[in-house]
Amino acid sequence: MYNSSHTIVSNLLLTLTAGLFFGFIIGYPGWILACTLLGWAAYQIKQFNRLQQWLMRIEHTDVPESRGHWGELFDEISRDQKRQKLRIQALRNVIHRFQQSSAALSDAIVIIDAHNNLEWWNRAAEKLLGMKTQTDRGRSVINLLRDPRFVRYYRKNLYDDPLQLSSPIQHDIVLEYRITRFGAGDRILIVRDITRLKQLEQTRQDFVANASHELRTPLTVIRGYLETFLDQELPGPLQRGLSQMQSQSHRMENLVADLLLLSRLETSAHVADELPIPIHSIAARIREDALALGQDKKQTIELNLEANSILLGQESEVYSALSNLVFNAVRYTPAGGVIKLRWWTDKQGGHLAVKDNGPGIDSIHLPRLQERFYRVDESRSSDSGGTGLGLAIVKHVMLRHGGKLSISSHLGKGSTFTCHFPSELIAPTPTKETEAD
Ligand code: ADP
Repeated sequence: MYNSSHTIVSNLLLTLTAGLFFGFIIGYPGWILACTLLGWAAYQIKQFNRLQQWLMRIEHTDVPESRGHWGELFDEISRDQKRQKLRIQALRNVIHRFQQSSAALSDAIVIIDAHNNLEWWNRAAEKLLGMKTQTDRGRSVINLLRDPRFVRYYRKNLYDDPLQLSSPIQHDIVLEYRITRFGAGDRILIVRDITRLKQLEQTRQDFVANASHELRTPLTVIRGYLETFLDQELPGPLQRGLSQMQSQSHRMENLVADLLLLSRLETSAHVADELPIPIHSIAARIREDALALGQDKKQTIELNLEANSILLGQESEVYSALSNLVFNAVRYTPAGGVIKLRWWTDKQGGHLAVKDNGPGIDSIHLPRLQERFYRVDESRSSDSGGTGLGLAIVKHVMLRHGGKLSISSHLGKGSTFTCHFPSELIAPTPTKETEAD
């Protein structure tokens, strides 16, 4: 900038000096100086007009021919324009490649702006969600995907877990919806066809359910015969062998019962109808059953429950979940241990915690504890009569009630298993006071 203004000033001075010199020679220095100045100004105005006209038609015309600083200016602008064009072309190529690659994806991708309107989507979105390029751009996503479950998921603004729903245009296609936020309130919706995965899952569930069902009858027969044999006077070794067979067949029956329960829980993602469950009575029942289970262990089971609490859900399932947690606490906590059952409500919902002062669980096991047949200590778990399915059952019951199970444990200090139920399942209570049993 300094250089070009410096050049302009030196050119002007040079021109004026030449004009003045010529003026002195012919005897009219003043007039010649004024004419030179006027000529110089006219030249600058002319070049400025050329620049203006060229800039207005820059896409179509070549760089105007010019010398001196105007020539340099034209060249500099021209170079800058070329650089800009290259940059725009590179960006266009990136966008084109992005559109090509996203169009080739089998997953639907939809970009939604901060006002919930559809901004862009790929070809798979048209196939899976029925969007139409001509008419749907700028429409609200909620007007297009109207399923109340999607609307609730979309509005909840909590997108940690995906949502599974059938396609709005083809009901036999199962889709998994995932939303991610980006920019200033924009969202990207990714939808995947999981029909095949669901079918495989269904086949697996059907197989487990059928196999468990088929195993039940032969097991009942075996148990019946074993009981009959054991009622008789038998030689020692035979007696011992048959007793072993009886306890193992009892274990198998429990296993089959748990497998059947799990299959039933897996058939649908939500409980069919939610009925009022008084927390006090279900907790008292579980306490009695747990005391009977651990009658030789002389453990204490304490209840600390908010008064008049009613949970809405499936009573048999909630009983299964809570009894699994309390029975585990009884089985894994040594004699004389203390087990505490606490129920409380807050803004998030209702919480039922089962706390024991047993051996605790190493933190490396916690992430996998709710998987089927995952055991911390295989031999101890089998000795305790567990099937390895207890926590998987609790997890599924909680999922069906829209809640979750959380586990905290410290080796040597004990464990706390807490069932968190959503606030929609907590019936309003007139008073809240703590009751201890
Ligand atoms: P299992 O039938 O073997 O008890 P679960 O699914 O109920 O199966 O539990 C999984 C594993 O978690 C158990 O094998 C046990 O190692 C551990 N576990 C469950 N509850 C407790 C507890 N209260 N204290 C210590 N370990 C526990």
